[in-house]
Amino acid sequence: MVVMTPEATQPQIDAVVTKLEATGVHVVVMPGELTTAIGAIGDPEGVRELGLEGMAGVDRVVEISRPYKLASIDLAHQEPSVFDIAGRTVGGGKTFCLIAGPCTVESREQTLAVAGAVAEGGASMLRGGAFKPRTSPFSFQGLGAAALDILREAREATGLPIVSELTDAQHADAVAEVVDVIQVGARNMQNYGLLQVAGSLGKPVLLKRGLSSTVEELLMAADYVLKEANAPVVLCERGIRTFETATRFTLDLSAIPWLKLHTHLPVIVDPSHAAGDRRLVEPLSRAAAAVGADGIIVEIAEDPEAALCDGPQQLYARDYPEFAEHVLAHAALGGRRLA
Ligand code: PEP
Ligand code: MN
Repeated sequence: MVVMTPEATQPQIDAVVTKLEATGVHVVVMPGELTTAIGAIGDPEGVRELGLEGMAGVDRVVEISRPYKLASIDLAHQEPSVFDIAGRTVGGGKTFCLIAGPCTVESREQTLAVAGAVAEGGASMLRGGAFKPRTSPFSFQGLGAAALDILREAREATGLPIVSELTDAQHADAVAEVVDVIQVGARNMQNYGLLQVAGSLGKPVLLKRGLSSTVEELLMAADYVLKEANAPVVLCERGIRTFETATRFTLDLSAIPWLKLHTHLPVIVDPSHAAGDRRLVEPLSRAAAAVGADGIIVEIAEDPEAALCDGPQQLYARDYPEFAEHVLAHAALGGRRLA
């Protein structure tokens, strides 16, 4: 937006318009009571290079474009994106994507048991960590490549697409070979090298919001992924750090409708890591459906007490069918059915 001085003459206004039009942007002249403003809609880069501030009659140039570009819902990308991810429709407001499974692949038996339970109870995809981003280096780090083989078997057994995290660029090819959706975890949301590697694989990416990241930073992180191969990116609100310590993180439910206003990308919610307590997972999942999330990603275990990671927040597999039914009933109120 170019704001002219109150004294600017018509020839000075015309000169700015001519200069702007030469760059190919769409120009709108808005005469006001005191000053005239000139709107330029298009690539801000070209406009920045014009040096309009130095022209006669120009008071100031105000950039009103958003810091995130590819993820933005704007004139270039006006509709919510609808992705086909391994045959599941994600985004677009007609479906609800239910991603369920263990926090971590701990063994073949444990993973296949949970995979079977969630497939039977109704799920869109199976989650399971092979490479785990643990806060302490002394905690169980995941089975790594061996877990990928188990996840491959779980997909063959259930037909569910696999969601699993990439924590390090050196595992990129191995992970991409097996998983259908590459997860980038909260702790790596601003690992720009990893975002570029994840994006370059050309596979759908599930990008989780950083523990202390703003939603604008999340969208700029999504830009890093989109810039590589423009593969589907699904955003995930998984709770943020606040002064509150009663829950593991504070689930920022307002982020979902805010993101819906500002990005074309689908948005899902992780109630498990946000709550850290399985008793809160169903209410938060229903809330996610109510605020318009495109789905949830939730942790399930046969025997959470024995889990090597995140036991207290994992739902019992035996409770999963009822849980899924309740959440999908809420999604159905918004016209969404299981993806
Ligand atoms: C996970 O989903 O396995 C996980 C580690 O979540 P987050 O990155 O949100 O902590
Ligand atoms: Mn977990």
